[in-house]
Amino acid sequence: MPGPTQALIDELHLKYAGLREGSAATYIPELAKASTEHFGIVVAGVDGSLIAAGDTEVLFSLQSTSKPLTYGLVLEDFGREFVLSKVGVEPTGEAFNSIVELEKHTHRPYNPMINSGAIAVSSLIRGASAEARLQRVLGLFEGYAGRPLAYDKKIFESEKNTAHRNRSIAHLLRHFSVIGDDIDDSLDLYFQQCSILANTRDLALIAATLAGGGINPRTGKRAVQEKYVGDILSLMFTCGMYDSSGEWAYSVGIPAKSGVSGAIFGVVPGKLGIAVFSPPIDEKGHSLRGMAVFKELSQRLNLSIFRHL
Ligand code: GLU
Repeated sequence: MPGPTQALIDELHLKYAGLREGSAATYIPELAKASTEHFGIVVAGVDGSLIAAGDTEVLFSLQSTSKPLTYGLVLEDFGREFVLSKVGVEPTGEAFNSIVELEKHTHRPYNPMINSGAIAVSSLIRGASAEARLQRVLGLFEGYAGRPLAYDKKIFESEKNTAHRNRSIAHLLRHFSVIGDDIDDSLDLYFQQCSILANTRDLALIAATLAGGGINPRTGKRAVQEKYVGDILSLMFTCGMYDSSGEWAYSVGIPAKSGVSGAIFGVVPGKLGIAVFSPPIDEKGHSLRGMAVFKELSQRLNLSIFRHL
């Protein structure tokens, strides 16, 4: 596999900066304020090397790119069997916020990458109080990114005050006893994790940590047990891009997760973490520049996990 070079990343940045489709997410009012010009690409090696182009220091909220990480945390807290009894591992082919998200007989959410599954995961996070649970989540993200991250209160409030759909999903989860009575606390923690601020470099290091089996390549510290990295990556691969996951597996071929703030991160196991941030998204919630960069990068560097056999 040829390695990524600064010249290649600069070339892709220049090429796709000209892509002018899509617009920033508006259903969370605070996200609508994002600049459609912002565009950053960072490729991080498992050896700690970094190649960056564009607005890589601009902060954005992680939104759904946070979901694979909290899933890993509850796997560590409770083990596979228990977590599987609460949240399934099947792709839905439905949108991220679909309310037709519970399996017919078990009433589990289909998977932890869609909102119903992620809210169920947040409800499981251990801690003596809401504040203790939040601190655990922030500590988790610090482990992956290699520096402390904070959540944005304005984005949190903005989502909380308008989250009628996620609230209805949470009540459905309560109805089927997937979550307990602490519906508001579970939702708050979910909105807080979604509003954690990071930049493209942080997100690439999060990706590289997963690529390296759970160890942050810069700090050398473990963020998640190695035995759960495969669980996280397989779910990112089958469900991380929502109802574009099949198309993504076919054309890009690496586990990835997108967020409606315009972030996408992808993991080339054993080799690279890749992050792209640019707010204009398509109707499925994926950054248009992000998808274009991933597609071309995958083809030029032969990154698909099925192509280096
Ligand atoms: N906080 C967002 C929501 O629950 C995340 C969606 C996304 O990034 O896909 O609607």
